[in-house]
Amino acid sequence: MPMIACPCTVCSSADKKDKRLRSSILVESEKTTIVVDTTTDFRYQMLREHVRKMDAVLFTHPHKDHISGLDDIRAFNYFQDSAMDVYANELTQTALKKEFSYIFAEHKYPGIPDIKLLDIPEDTFLIGDIPITAIKVWHLRMPVLGFRFGSFTYITDANRIEDAELEKIKGSDVLVLNALRKEKHISHFNLEEATALVKELNIPTAYFTHISHQLGLHVEINKELPDGIALAFDGQQILTK
Ligand SMILES: [Zn+2]
Ligand SMILES: [Zn+2]
Ligand SMILES: [Zn+2]
Repeated sequence: MPMIACPCTVCSSADKKDKRLRSSILVESEKTTIVVDTTTDFRYQMLREHVRKMDAVLFTHPHKDHISGLDDIRAFNYFQDSAMDVYANELTQTALKKEFSYIFAEHKYPGIPDIKLLDIPEDTFLIGDIPITAIKVWHLRMPVLGFRFGSFTYITDANRIEDAELEKIKGSDVLVLNALRKEKHISHFNLEEATALVKELNIPTAYFTHISHQLGLHVEINKELPDGIALAFDGQQILTK
């Protein structure tokens, strides 16, 4: 946000927190750096946050706003002199091979991204010293992956989560969850559904992400939210165990 050509009050807002790039997170320990999704804004997000190294990419799903920045991973290939580990489910791997066919071509031209595609293990696995558990959620009929890193869970682009997967979220200290707008949406939780899910799971601290300009002004919506729930904003940093 703002959305191109939109005259609405949110898109015209001067509040920095009403300016949003595409949804993505960086997960860091002292030793390890992981990005979840390479958005259309990936290059700028990496520059803005002064990210100097990357150990792996995790993909949630193959929608364009979550994958289209992949080409810029080549800067890390260049400085780290190694292929990038890219974890994705089968659906996303198929899409990446199609949408970035030159990366996977038999005869590659020089300077393109060097990527090692990896399946997502069923059980908790480690990237460096960060434990990761994949959580399968639904984006209408598309399977999407959420990820739990210790006590922190990130779920975007979901509108339904099966009971067995909800169990994997329980006990998180912090949950980042998608909440698109107030009105119902076919493939995203709305504000009411996201709030209800946080309550149902008894998560003490939650932040909403993947927010549309249709939700309203950041400062006003935040006031309406229950204790422990807030809208996320670009550049926000969260410390967790
Ligand atoms: Zn707008
Ligand atoms: Zn999506
Ligand atoms: Zn999305």
